Amino acid sequence: MRITGIRATPVAVPYRSPEVWAFGRRRGQVSVLIEVDTDDGVTGLGEAAAYPSADIVLAVLRGLEPLVLGEDPFAVERLVRRIELVGTWHHVKATSPAIAAVEMACWDILGKVCGQPLVNLFGGRFRERVECFYYVARAEPDDVAAEARLATKAGFGTCYLKVGSDDPRTDIERVAALRDGAGPDARLRIDANEAWSPGTAVRLIRELERFDLELMEQPVSGRNLDEMAYVRGRVGVPILANEASWTRYDQLAVIKAGAADVLSVDNQMDGGLANLKRAAGLCEAAGLPVVKHSLGELGVALAAAVHVIASTPNFRYANQAYGALLADDVTSGFGGGLESYADGCMEVPSGPGLGVALDPDRVARYAELYRTEGASFSFGDPQALARAHALPKL
Ligand SMILES: [Mg+2]
Repeated sequence: MRITGIRATPVAVPYRSPEVWAFGRRRGQVSVLIEVDTDDGVTGLGEAAAYPSADIVLAVLRGLEPLVLGEDPFAVERLVRRIELVGTWHHVKATSPAIAAVEMACWDILGKVCGQPLVNLFGGRFRERVECFYYVARAEPDDVAAEARLATKAGFGTCYLKVGSDDPRTDIERVAALRDGAGPDARLRIDANEAWSPGTAVRLIRELERFDLELMEQPVSGRNLDEMAYVRGRVGVPILANEASWTRYDQLAVIKAGAADVLSVDNQMDGGLANLKRAAGLCEAAGLPVVKHSLGELGVALAAAVHVIASTPNFRYANQAYGALLADDVTSGFGGGLESYADGCMEVPSGPGLGVALDPDRVARYAELYRTEGASFSFGDPQALARAHALPKL
């Protein structure tokens, strides 16, 4: 079997409320959907987060084409190694979502040809369902509390909120509202996206400990692991590495530095699903749990990750997903919208390969939205740029 073509379709799907983080905002999810065709007539689906932008993903995909066309989609490891080493010259972070989308589509082809869901190709079901957190959009405290109430009512066990705002007092008010709305049993995870200096982080996390936080995500720069280890040694909340742990090589450095209690892993940022499994294994050997990170994704990429997570023991926390934030999706009944979740968990698709299909009407609608308004969906929108700060903010 040989790969005969790659078709790419950028789409923009709105969020129910804007995603606001320490350094900007975006009003929806831009992804590049890809379809990899073969001479056997089997087509594999993939999805790349628009990171750093949809234009860059599309450019990388064009650059990859000569390395992919004519290749055997079953030779996933060889194909990815060839792309990484020959095709993208080690620029792994910026090129990775496009690589990951091609790799994802190859796995979809494999599963379809074998007649097996991907989970069975990655070790089988270690767990029946995959838990995801409820993404509570950063907003006024009353709105945060209302969303957290909705999360608990919908059965989610973990709520996630971005902190790192310009005034830390508003962060404290929002976290208080989050606990108030979610109730005493909910697990609360907050993410500062590197906004704080070590001193500020220690002071604020100690103040926030009274809200019984499950995890504190990336309080300080991910580039200086000594800072993370310093904070970790002085607070009573476990530290989750994210910006510090994009690739397996970064994760190894975090482990060696004793800089985190839990590590984020992400197939989009590290060349695909096989590397996601490897990353989890690396952390397992160090005795550490992992969390699937998301740059934002729709049903195709979410399904791909769910198969691997279901087959891998040390995904012990709720994983990052955008289902609670997305107003819709490009697949039917999987991904965006709370109806895709039961008790905050996703079912592992049972069909062959990824087990999801594109909904042509939705793809057409959101491809058109990308064409007309795509630029305003990115983190680079002018309003966000005007609000940008230097690191650390406080
Ligand atoms: Mg994060």
